[in-house]
Amino acid sequence: MSCYYCEKPATGMEHVPPQSFFIKGQRDGLISVPSCDVHNQQKSKDDEYVRAVLLSSAKLDGKEQLAPLFEVHLRALNRAGEQIPGRLKNEEDFQKFLEIEEKFKDDHAAGMKSFSELAQAGIGTGLLGLLSVDYRDEVIFDNDGNEQQTISYAFDTKRFNNFFKSMAKGLFFHEADWAWLGKVVLLPHSFLREEASEDEKFISKHYSSQLVRDDAKGDHKDVFYYDVGTELDSSGKEILRYVVNFCLYDTFEFTALLESKYFVASPEPR
Ligand SMILES: [Zn+2]
Repeated sequence: MSCYYCEKPATGMEHVPPQSFFIKGQRDGLISVPSCDVHNQQKSKDDEYVRAVLLSSAKLDGKEQLAPLFEVHLRALNRAGEQIPGRLKNEEDFQKFLEIEEKFKDDHAAGMKSFSELAQAGIGTGLLGLLSVDYRDEVIFDNDGNEQQTISYAFDTKRFNNFFKSMAKGLFFHEADWAWLGKVVLLPHSFLREEASEDEKFISKHYSSQLVRDDAKGDHKDVFYYDVGTELDSSGKEILRYVVNFCLYDTFEFTALLESKYFVASPEPR
């Protein structure tokens, strides 16, 4: 068997999406694909990172069905937090640490906010600290024109994109039974920037509307569902691209375009 990503000899199996994205006790019927060492073990830190980014998003507020995942997420953050005292250099650091813990103790995003503040205070927080280094307070205006306090995180876009491109390749392999070695263009619909161009918004809307929960595949749709399709050229004979649509946590929608002729996706705006 060969790796879903690079076609080198496979040494194991890789879950797509990773097993840790699913709720314990609800992990039957998960997709797995053959993988080489490089595209398996080395990815596990990215898995943790991306899961933490998604589960920290305010977009998931109120999703009761995901409660067990939030618990796991908070435990992971707490574990990382427990290692922090060993990294505190002096009494001043220690005081800062206690202060921050107290400040966020009842907040569901406590971990993220704490890590960010610790990182800003110059206290090392390891991998999970990476998540929140660039967090900042922001004021936005709601629909009624009222000021709302919120926060935003900058995340590691490259790492994030690579993770989802790998996932798209895994899903493609699962469906097609061969590895896609060509270009992958990722459209992270739920993370489209406010200032994106009209074209970008049009393309995003075009593809995100193709994924319909009820028609999509996936045994645990609260966590994940997807479909894989093709787009043909005007003669209807040649495949222009494969389209891998997927949604995580019923919230985060993505399309990956597997460009067979290295075309840039550009449906005609109407
Ligand atoms: Zn590989």
